[in-house]
Amino acid sequence: MRQSLVIANWKLNGDLGLIQKMAEQFANNDVQTAVKVVICPPAVYLKAAEISLAPAQVKVGAQNCAAQSEGAFTGEISARMLRDSGAEYVLIGHSERRALFAEQDAELAKKVVQAQREALIPVFCIGETLEQREAGEVKSVLRGQLEAGLADADFSQLVIAYEPVWAIGTGKTASPEQAQEVHAMVREWVAEVAPSEAADIQILYGGSVKAENAETLFSQPDIDGGLIGGASLDPVQFDAICKAA
Ligand code: PEP
Repeated sequence: MRQSLVIANWKLNGDLGLIQKMAEQFANNDVQTAVKVVICPPAVYLKAAEISLAPAQVKVGAQNCAAQSEGAFTGEISARMLRDSGAEYVLIGHSERRALFAEQDAELAKKVVQAQREALIPVFCIGETLEQREAGEVKSVLRGQLEAGLADADFSQLVIAYEPVWAIGTGKTASPEQAQEVHAMVREWVAEVAPSEAADIQILYGGSVKAENAETLFSQPDIDGGLIGGASLDPVQFDAICKAA
């Protein structure tokens, strides 16, 4: 039985005030007994978020980590540093990192290894563009991303997030059927490469999830929760999405 998981990706948003509001929203809230809730604020806020959210049983995660463990890499933050700052999860390969920061498969594979070496759970993000979907390439694109990025992964300590690029921040959501089809395909792929983990691995959907559409998406058999961008900046709406899981 897989536990539902809902992860907030704040991107380059949020501040100490929002952390406080989230902590208040989730205090005396029993959603976290059934659903694991994780907030990924900008890295500088990790420690503050961990301290504020711990009483509410909400975990914290990072949005990225370095592909190296240490050295002359100005501006980078290692997996160990994130762990020291309270992170338990780390997003790897978000489509914004791939598109805006030119992160490539080989680098992402190294990040997954770094994260797992420091006992962080990677949330490995995959997704196709609209062009690729229209060209009938969804399966080959996603399998390519999975094979390359998870080449050296330990599947027992891993979350996969399917986020169609065309649905991120656009207000367009994959239909529950479209999302389920991809999630089932991802689980089948895991069954090929790590058969003992296929039934247990959590596969999240992300892309314009809101309180109104969360329930139908999360009720699909292979959707184990969500990775939430814009709607996770509103504590009341984020809480409602967690309850839908
Ligand atoms: C995301 O960036 O991970 C995301 C899913 O964003 P949004 O929910 O805003 O589409």
